[in-house]
Amino acid sequence: MSIAQTVSCLDGYDPDALRVDKAREAILACLTPIGESEKIPVKETLGRILAEDIVPRINVPAHDNSAMDGYAIRFSDVENPLKEIGAALAGKPFHGKLGPGECVRIMTGAVMPPGADTVVIQEIVKKQGDRITIPPAQKKAQNVRYAGEDLKIGVAVLGPGRFLKPADVGLIASLGIGEVRVRRRLRVAFFATGDELASIGTPLKEGEVYDSNRYTVGSMLARLGVEAIDMGVVRDDPALLEKAFREASQKADAVITTGGVSVGEADFVKQLMAKLGEVLFWKIAMRPGRPMAFGRIGDAFLFGLPGNPVAVMVTFYQFVRDALLHMSGREDAPIPLLQAAAAENLRKVPGRTEYQRGVLFRDGTEWKVRTTGQQGSGVLRSMSEANCFIVLEHERGQVKAGEPVSVQLFEGLA
Ligand code: AMP
Ligand code: MG
Repeated sequence: MSIAQTVSCLDGYDPDALRVDKAREAILACLTPIGESEKIPVKETLGRILAEDIVPRINVPAHDNSAMDGYAIRFSDVENPLKEIGAALAGKPFHGKLGPGECVRIMTGAVMPPGADTVVIQEIVKKQGDRITIPPAQKKAQNVRYAGEDLKIGVAVLGPGRFLKPADVGLIASLGIGEVRVRRRLRVAFFATGDELASIGTPLKEGEVYDSNRYTVGSMLARLGVEAIDMGVVRDDPALLEKAFREASQKADAVITTGGVSVGEADFVKQLMAKLGEVLFWKIAMRPGRPMAFGRIGDAFLFGLPGNPVAVMVTFYQFVRDALLHMSGREDAPIPLLQAAAAENLRKVPGRTEYQRGVLFRDGTEWKVRTTGQQGSGVLRSMSEANCFIVLEHERGQVKAGEPVSVQLFEGLA
């Protein structure tokens, strides 16, 4: 099915006043994840996307073992004191067997000696020579970790689509697995368009600006872990643009451009796009970032972002990020929305979604958010100073100080 057919099936799709949620839905409806995968060492899997089930061939822990430093005992023993007959250390098991009235000194992680079923922590026992006195009210099986308690032989722990975090890398290593099948990295080509763009290293002529979009786009792509292909700045010249689009779509799974989709420029780009593939031009009910193009050139998906530096970042995070992660085969993509109290009144009109640049901060016990001030879509400093977007939903009007608002954090663990 063509892109136009796919998106026109969406209820409420209107290319000239497209709601943010509809635009997102339309994009995702058109995309399919790449199929190719590769096998790589576990050490290199951070940030990659799993392409297989991880199935333990051992139990973790492999043996019943002690969770604490103390004494391994037989719970059924009523005798007190007990006789200490040896020690079990991590990696150095005790090879005898506990008989009635006996106990073994045991360290965290050491294998439970045969016959023992309970561990008493060392802080509460009294020791005189090799005689150990245990206080009453111990519980059977306390402080013992059982074989397979974390991970069981044959039961998959991670599956395809999993974005691998530091804990996952460790988890795979804990199973003794050395190589992992992951999706190949998504290839994303990008370039900036505009006659006014100067490159770093050349002095600015009248009316020129330094191209910053390519640097923000390149940096945002780097964080997504895709293979980014920087194709430089392309002048607003049909022949040069055509060449760039052709080359990019051959090299990459996705192509991102900035500039050239605003009303003044769209016609010329539109004609070119129509010649090369299938591209839709949208006016999205959002601020910043209204104009945007989405479509397909050759086998590559195209994301034509606006030129304004803040609009580039907002449209990237709200549409392109999730689209690329979906294409990469990742299944946990959406950025979480949290709630915080507005620290000031916020101007907003219903009928569009706004992404104000915010600073989330702690005021006593409460998390509050304020804007970074000047919110123009060309003010990149507003992004630089912010640590979150304040997301003001489509229907929402003015916000009064103290009201809860949604925020999307720029940074997170993981
Ligand atoms: P456009 O969408 O091409 O009309 O561009 C809108 C605004 O963004 C203009 O003020 C451009 O100068 C600016 N702009 C476009 N591309 C870039 C870029 N790569 N770096 C910095 N500013 C840009
Ligand atoms: Mg332009």
